[in-house]
Amino acid sequence: MTRAQELAQRLTAVERRLGEACAAAGRARDEVALVAVTKFFPATDVVVLRDLGVTRFGESRDQEARRKADEVADVRWHFVGRLQSNKAASVAAYASVVESCDRLRLVPGLSAGARGADRELAVLVQVSLDGDPGRGGAVAADVPALADAVAAAQGLHLAGVMAVAPMEEEPARAFARLAELAERVRQDHPQARTISAGMSADLEEAVAAGSTSVRVGTALLGRRPSALR
Ligand SMILES: *Cc1c(COP(=O)(O)O)cnc(C)c1O
Repeated sequence: MTRAQELAQRLTAVERRLGEACAAAGRARDEVALVAVTKFFPATDVVVLRDLGVTRFGESRDQEARRKADEVADVRWHFVGRLQSNKAASVAAYASVVESCDRLRLVPGLSAGARGADRELAVLVQVSLDGDPGRGGAVAADVPALADAVAAAQGLHLAGVMAVAPMEEEPARAFARLAELAERVRQDHPQARTISAGMSADLEEAVAAGSTSVRVGTALLGRRPSALR
C-alpha cells in the first residue's frame, strides 16, 4: 500500500467516526470542522490530504509550521502548540487560526504580527481543564479577561476556546466544563462560537459535548515518533 492509499483509508475511517459521532449527538456533520494535525509528518502528507479534500491543518512548532506553510498552498494553518511570546508575531504571519493563546503576554505579539502581515487572525483562548497551567492553557478564572484582551486587539478576531482533555479524567466531564466556559465567553462575545476539542482518542466525547472543531493527528497520519510527541 502506498502512503497516499494509507492516508486515504485513515481519512475515510476518521470521517466515518465523525459522521457517527455527529449522528449520535443529533448534529449535522458540517457543524464540526476537521483539523489534520500534521506535526512531525512531511509536507508531502499534507499535499495528499489536501488533495483528498482536507482544508485545515494543525502544527505545534513555529519553524516546522512555517516551512510547510511555504510549501503547501491553498490550505488553512492552525497553530495548536505552546506559543512563546517571541514567536507570536512569526506565527501570525502564516496561521489563519492560533488555537493556543493562553496568556495576556501573547496578545501584543499576535496583534503586531497580524497587523504587520495585513491580515485578520482568528484566535482561540486555550483553557486548562485540570487547572494546571504548566501543561498549557489559562485557568478558568483568567479566561474572561484574556478573551476581552484578544477581542479588543487590532488584527485579532476572538473566535472561541480550545482545550486538551486532561489525562486523569473522563473526557466527557472535562469537555462539559469547557462547554460551560465557552458559553460564558459567548455571553460577552457572541461571535466566539468555536469550541476546539477532541483528538484521535476522544473525538466522539468532544462532538457529544458540542465541539465545533476536532484536531486529529495519530488517527489520520499514524504514530508520531515516540521520542518527540
Ligand atoms: C498533537 C496534538 C493533537 C493531535 O493529537 P492526536 O492524539 O495525535 O490526534 C491535537 N491537539 C494538540 C494541541 C496537539 O498538540
